[in-house]
Amino acid sequence: MSSNKEKSKTQKYDRNGLENVMKRRFIVVPSFLIYNGVSGLYDFGPTGVALKNNIENFWREHFILEENLLEISGTCITPEIVLKTSGHVDKFTDYAVKDVKTGQCFRADKLIKEWIEKEKKKKKLTEEKIKELDELAIKIDNYEEKELDEIIERYNICSPDTGNKLSKSYKFNLMFETQIGPTGGCRGFLRPETAQGHFVNFKHLLDFNSNRIPFGSASIGLGFRNEIAPRSGLLRVREFTMAEIEYFVDPLKKGHKKFNSIKDLKLPLWSAKNQLSGKSIENDITLGEAVEKKIIDNETLGYFLGKTYLFLIEIGIQKEGIRFRQHTPKEMAHYASDCWDAEIETSYGWIEVAGHADRTCFDLSHHTEVSGVDLVASRPLKEPKLIKGIKVIPNKAVIFKNFTDKEKAKKLCDKLSKLSDEEKNNLMNEYEKNEKIEIDIDEEKIVLDKSQIKMERFEQNIHEEKYYPNVIEPSFGIGRILYCVMEHCFKVREKDSRRTYFDFPPLIAPYKASILPLIENEKFMEYIEPIRKILVQNGITYRIDAIDSIGRRYARTDEIGIPFGITIDDVTLKDNTITLREIDTMKQIRLPINEVGNVIKNCCNRIEKWEDIVKKYPAFEDKKNDS
Ligand code: AMP
Repeated sequence: MSSNKEKSKTQKYDRNGLENVMKRRFIVVPSFLIYNGVSGLYDFGPTGVALKNNIENFWREHFILEENLLEISGTCITPEIVLKTSGHVDKFTDYAVKDVKTGQCFRADKLIKEWIEKEKKKKKLTEEKIKELDELAIKIDNYEEKELDEIIERYNICSPDTGNKLSKSYKFNLMFETQIGPTGGCRGFLRPETAQGHFVNFKHLLDFNSNRIPFGSASIGLGFRNEIAPRSGLLRVREFTMAEIEYFVDPLKKGHKKFNSIKDLKLPLWSAKNQLSGKSIENDITLGEAVEKKIIDNETLGYFLGKTYLFLIEIGIQKEGIRFRQHTPKEMAHYASDCWDAEIETSYGWIEVAGHADRTCFDLSHHTEVSGVDLVASRPLKEPKLIKGIKVIPNKAVIFKNFTDKEKAKKLCDKLSKLSDEEKNNLMNEYEKNEKIEIDIDEEKIVLDKSQIKMERFEQNIHEEKYYPNVIEPSFGIGRILYCVMEHCFKVREKDSRRTYFDFPPLIAPYKASILPLIENEKFMEYIEPIRKILVQNGITYRIDAIDSIGRRYARTDEIGIPFGITIDDVTLKDNTITLREIDTMKQIRLPINEVGNVIKNCCNRIEKWEDIVKKYPAFEDKKNDS
């Protein structure tokens, strides 16, 4: 916020200092602490909730409002069939290894990475050795069981806490499993992403959008992942808020009509090719050039990378602490064709905070196949097209009457509704020759004659063709972003290293203002209510603090990042003015009470900057007030 940053000593990512404040001021704390806690679960206190809400609200404005997205809310509990179809039941796994004696589990790739970091700190390593370790660290995300086991054996990597041997690596599915209902007949999972809720509702969404493509849906909600060994605070947790966009495009038109607005942005891009060949990040390439050279696959993907970059800067992430890293082919999720992570530098290293994947038509086509419901869109054809096909019309009334096993009859009708073109063709030949067909159900051959099924060849002129839309998915972890914002905005006063504060942009600051009577005296206290009313009318969140010296109170409000302090003093009693103090510069101005709401609101809504506001009002110098 300030032009005066050099005045404050920026400690680059002071994790200990931050964790101390988070705990002491109940910003975010480990859950169930009175019972020793459960790793990977965290509770948010009032300041944490306010900060999280403000980040989410700005995400809504920046993406949903600006891009005219359709916000939806799906359920967290998801039946198995959905996640089996999406591939999560079989493939949403990480590799784990166990300490063979204590049984303690580790995520294999993380364990090796941590071992590399420790190894690199050893003295007298040759340059060659350092290079070897660096290369290993970059390639580790691409490795599977065999390669991970081979590395653990080659470097004799042991259990970090005990030095015991490690087991062979094995796949661990990260989803939390549950039973839906009392019978045990319906297996379910807590959703690992909100995305599937968008895909299963695709028909409703398309209809709501008057059958027009492109459009995007968005959702902010909980995701659950049973992480193997969460040890990085808020960065790797087991329950977290995700903000996801599924942007549906015609695969033949992946351009974006607003691409021009971001095409000149230069983002730090680290392509898969550069990572695998040991080359560094490119800082000097515009998004326009990156798409043109196919470094980024298409404009829509590039557009969202640009939007994410602007979003992160606006909420207080330092520019130099952001990079975009492309997934290497082996690292790519099972559903993706191109993927870029927005990563932020933290005290834990570079952390992925948002993935941007081109999920192609993976989900819509698989859900169509399994559900039998066409999750497709259509595009007009330039010329009408003659198509030939085969209609399969089962006589369900007769079939169900003839079958005593109704479950089998249902399976049969299901199968008939999902026949491929090739299967239809073969059956049609049989039908024309013998006037009956044979279908396999549960390894039993079922014969259907003309009374049970009708088959017809048809020709039709069509004016539009159906296709599966492709999906570009920006997916944000709100908790990770929140933690990174806190690390990037955490500052220490130059004159007193015990006085810490957050230099949050007012836009996302948890509370926007504090109301501080100079002393706890009736004549000052009377002014609290009218000021509070003005703040409420302007939608400004606030804290009232009248206990202790004013210096201590400033320190207290600074510690939770309240950008503006309103002080009621002797002069207020005479002329209805207050002082307004800004957190980073600690400069104060004097202004009439009835203007304070507008000034703070304009600052929070990014209409005016503090630097401009100080030019409009007289400065207030009172050393007593700020210590
Ligand atoms: P993914 O679907 O794996 O790309 O995850 C989407 C986003 O969710 C990531 O970019 C992270 O910001 C966030 N995320 C994923 N796993 C976790 C986790 N265990 N804890 C916190 N955030 C996570």
